[in-house]
Amino acid sequence: GMPSAPLKPLAVRRKSRQIMVGSVPVGGDAPISVQSMTTTVTSDVNATLQQIAELTASGCQIVRVACPSQDDADALATIARKSQIPVIADIHFQPKYVFAAIDAGCAAVRVNPGNIRQFDDKVKEIAKAASAAGVPIRIGVNAGSLDARLLAKYGKATPEALVESALWECSLFEEHGFQDIKISVKHNDPVVMIAAYRLLAASCDYPLHLGVTEAGPSFQGTIKSAVAFGALLSEGIGDTIRVSLSAPPAEEIKVGNQILESLNLRQRGLEIVSCPSCGRAQVDVYKLAEEVTAGLEGMEVPLRVAVMGCVVNGPGEAREADLGVASGNGKGQIFVKGEVIKTVPESKIVETLIEEALKLAELMQAE
Ligand code: SF4
Repeated sequence: GMPSAPLKPLAVRRKSRQIMVGSVPVGGDAPISVQSMTTTVTSDVNATLQQIAELTASGCQIVRVACPSQDDADALATIARKSQIPVIADIHFQPKYVFAAIDAGCAAVRVNPGNIRQFDDKVKEIAKAASAAGVPIRIGVNAGSLDARLLAKYGKATPEALVESALWECSLFEEHGFQDIKISVKHNDPVVMIAAYRLLAASCDYPLHLGVTEAGPSFQGTIKSAVAFGALLSEGIGDTIRVSLSAPPAEEIKVGNQILESLNLRQRGLEIVSCPSCGRAQVDVYKLAEEVTAGLEGMEVPLRVAVMGCVVNGPGEAREADLGVASGNGKGQIFVKGEVIKTVPESKIVETLIEEALKLAELMQAE
C-alpha cells in the first residue's frame, strides 16, 4: 500500500461522543468527514443518484438530500439503498417526512429547530422511531431561520441565540432519552459562526457539523469556509464539514478535502509546491505549475512536487520535495528525492517531471 507519514494535526481534538451516520463514524476519534448536498430534485431518482455517484467519486463521504415534498419522501428508499455513501434526509416543516426518511433507510435526518414550530408534540415519536432504527438526528440551526422566540429575545442571530436554539432542541430529544445527535449552528458570517461553534463546543459533547451557510460563489465561499473551518479545526473543533458554494457540489468536496489536507487532518495527496514567480524567474512558472498540475491530476499518492522559477529557493525546495525542478537559463535541474538526476531544456521540464512522478508513484504503490 502507500506509505503514510504520520499526520500531525495542530490541536488536540475536542472530546465528543461518537455517532454513526450509516457506516461513517462521526465524532470521537473518527476522521473528520466531508459532506455535500445534492442540487437535483430529489424525486428525480436517476439524476440524484447520478450526482451522488459523482460526489462519491470526488471524495464525498456523506450526502444530504432535500425532502420538501411527498414525491421526494417517496424517492428516499431507492436513493438510500442505491447510494454508495450514507444519505441524510434534510427536512423542514413536515414531521411526517422525518418518519418517512427513517422508514426509507436514510442514515440520518436533519431537522431545523426554527422550522419545526408545531413539532414539539412529535419529538417523542421521532425520538422513538429514530432510536429504534439507530438513526441519528442532526439539529441544524441556521441564522436565516432562527426560532422566532429566540430572534425576539436576542434581536438577531447572535452566537448565543444560535447555540441556545440548538441546545433547546437537543433538550427536547434528551427528555426522551435520545442523544444520538449532531449539531450545526450555521451563519453566513465566519466571525459569528466561529464564535457560535466555540460556545457550542464548550456547552455540550455532541459531535459538530461545521458550515458557513450561504457562503457565496466559489471564490468567496472557499475563502470564508477555509478561514472559518481553519480557525475551528485548528482548535480541535469540528467532526464533519460542509463547504457551501453556489457552485456544483463536487467543487465543495474538492475544497473540503483540501482544507482537511492543509491542516494535516487528512493524508495529503498530490501537493504542488510552486513559487509565485518574481523578477528573477527565468522560466514561465505559472505555465509550468499549471501544466504539471494538469498532467498529474487524479494522482492519489502523497507526492510533493516543487516547481521553482530560479536558483534562489529552487534547489532548496526541489531537494525537500519528492520531486522538483529548479529552473535557470532556459533549463531545469530535475531533482528526485533530493538528488539532481538530470538537467533538461525548458521545453522538456513538464514531461520529465510527469515521467518521474509516475515512476515514483509506482514505487510508492509497490511498497
Ligand atoms: Fe522568484 Fe526564484 Fe523565488 Fe521563484 S524561486 S519566487 S523566481 S526568487
